[in-house]
Amino acid sequence: MKYYAADIVFPVTGPAIKKGIVAMDDHGVIKGIYNQGEVDDSKVEFLKGALIPGFVNAHCHLELSHMEGLVPQHTGLPQFLMKVMNERGAKEKSVDKAMEAADKAMYENGIQAVGDHANSAVSAKVKENSPIQYHTFVEVMALADADVESRIDQAKEIEFHFDYKRSSITPHAPYSCSKTLFKTFKKVVGEDNIISIHNQESDEENKLFRYNKGEFLDFYKQMKLSVDGFRAQARNSLQSFLPYIPTKNKLILVHNTYTSIKDLDFVDRMGRKVYFCLCPKANLYIENKLPKVENFLLGGHEIIIGTDSLASNTSLDILDELKVIHAEYPHLDFNETIKWATINGAKALNIDHELGSLEEGKKPGLVLLEGMESFKLDPKIKVKRIR
Ligand SMILES: [Zn+2]
Repeated sequence: MKYYAADIVFPVTGPAIKKGIVAMDDHGVIKGIYNQGEVDDSKVEFLKGALIPGFVNAHCHLELSHMEGLVPQHTGLPQFLMKVMNERGAKEKSVDKAMEAADKAMYENGIQAVGDHANSAVSAKVKENSPIQYHTFVEVMALADADVESRIDQAKEIEFHFDYKRSSITPHAPYSCSKTLFKTFKKVVGEDNIISIHNQESDEENKLFRYNKGEFLDFYKQMKLSVDGFRAQARNSLQSFLPYIPTKNKLILVHNTYTSIKDLDFVDRMGRKVYFCLCPKANLYIENKLPKVENFLLGGHEIIIGTDSLASNTSLDILDELKVIHAEYPHLDFNETIKWATINGAKALNIDHELGSLEEGKKPGLVLLEGMESFKLDPKIKVKRIR
């Protein structure tokens, strides 16, 4: 048994404890949380900073790790997608190496679990050998009705390569999935299939759905994709596809940079729970815009945090993402945002019984925020994995 003391301990599901102590056994299982004086000083290792459970990175694409620095910044989403689709193919060896390095960096950055999107099985081996718990979302996309069934079958075949308890198939994004795909998808998945859809990452997506206009039409043309069946919906993308998503499945919507209050009202009226995943650094990279965090707080919506891939980010580091959010919204309380980065993501990925908070019986990892002595997230604070 090891005892770790720090200036502050954030159990996440309970109040922060000044000069708290975390007891952990040899297997990394939490055995108790104590106050100063409750454990004999001679047994305790004292650390400077704040102790938190391992982070949950709710959105990544490990298989794009070799694309770090390849795509120019601030091009907007359609241009970004074209670049990724044209350059995602690379030599297997360099892809493997980049994925291994990214996985290692995430672990060192205190990340305990990852929701990871995949288009192939290339990341299966890295995930199998990783101390990180991955949930793999195999993406389905099809704009032509004739492709829908074969694409779903293909995704199921790829899913087979991953841990069956920690994988699911998911529609990729509103602009890459036809109405027929959404309808068919609903019929073929069970209730335990977690869904994770890119949502309103660009205003072009809303333009496409509202008016059938904008840069996505150029994107389809250039990629030689036929979207003849598509009609303007006179409403934002979210309001157009949400009614087709099975209601009992857990649903993560990723990005939400251009999600309006009206869209959120629509979600509430449908009475379904949604986890809104924010990936601020990727949003700045691609669109140079951040989602309106206050809109999600207003309605008490559940926020989770992701890094997205190295194709659209300079690091896979949840602390970096939190720093960007706190710099933009200085009034936010770290006691709240730490939940977004840990327990909320764990709930979304159905692993909150195992990790996401410092609670007896859980095995959440133990991470030190070096230099954190108050409840303020200073840009100078560094992440260090303890266990
Ligand atoms: Zn993504």
